[in-house]
Amino acid sequence: MDFRGKTVIVTGAGKGIGREIVRMLVERGAQVVALTRSGADVEALRGEFGCRAIQVDLADADATREAAIAALPADFLINCAGTTELQPFLETTVEAFDRLVAVNTRAPMIVAQEYARSLIKEDRKGAIVNVSSVASFVGIPDHAAYCASKGGLDGLTRVMAKELAPHGIRANGVHPTVTLTPMAVKAWSDPEKAAGMMKRIPVGRFAEPADIAEVVLFLLSDQAAMVNGISMPVDGGYMIA
Ligand code: NDP
Repeated sequence: MDFRGKTVIVTGAGKGIGREIVRMLVERGAQVVALTRSGADVEALRGEFGCRAIQVDLADADATREAAIAALPADFLINCAGTTELQPFLETTVEAFDRLVAVNTRAPMIVAQEYARSLIKEDRKGAIVNVSSVASFVGIPDHAAYCASKGGLDGLTRVMAKELAPHGIRANGVHPTVTLTPMAVKAWSDPEKAAGMMKRIPVGRFAEPADIAEVVLFLLSDQAAMVNGISMPVDGGYMIA
């Protein structure tokens, strides 16, 4: 996959899967515009990968729209930023629920709106990949708000796929299983919980960020020109178990 001459917006580019996506895109010739929260990551992305990097808290809707507009023009969009907080269903707070939906669901919608508006105005084609999770397919204990936020993101992906494809813009979702990143440390540090999850993954390991990044780049690329509106698990077979 050759991304020479292409500009790609990547949210959540500072760590984990987003950072690996940036590394791969730059290696394959893309110019990356990174949207992420921590100042240290913004500096590192500029220094290491020569990205344009914009610091933004994607929980803030107005700031998100401003950052999305500042990131344009772009050929492709990857909504990768995500966050989680572990709470059993009965103890899930409205505040945590709203925080997760703001970052995991609302921010991808806002960034995609601005990206698509700009492409349609310029009569250019494009593609969007939303990084969801296997948590949108199954109920994972202590992840009520996270599961709901990713289920909402899947709904958005499908509507985008229908409404934007006539304009030449595809939209697809990628659904990782546990992937070895800072988020996974937060969500899966309990060895008993991690072992239970691992048992359900037929390939016998958790994912590496590169496993996810390769699939994201494929769905973005012209090789996937006829793929639109899918939810692709990258889960080592977890979903068939
Ligand atoms: P990490 O926590 O490792 O990295 C997330 C990135 O998103 C960080 O750069 C973080 O910045 C950024 N981010 C989070 N919240 C905000 C915010 N409010 N504003 C701006 N940037 C923000 O996560 P992963 O790489 O593991 O996850 C990437 C995506 O993959 C997420 O959407 C996640 O839900 C999904 N996923 C991950 C799985 C896993 O096991 N790791 C499994 C399934 C799905 P900062 O650190 O500065 O806050």
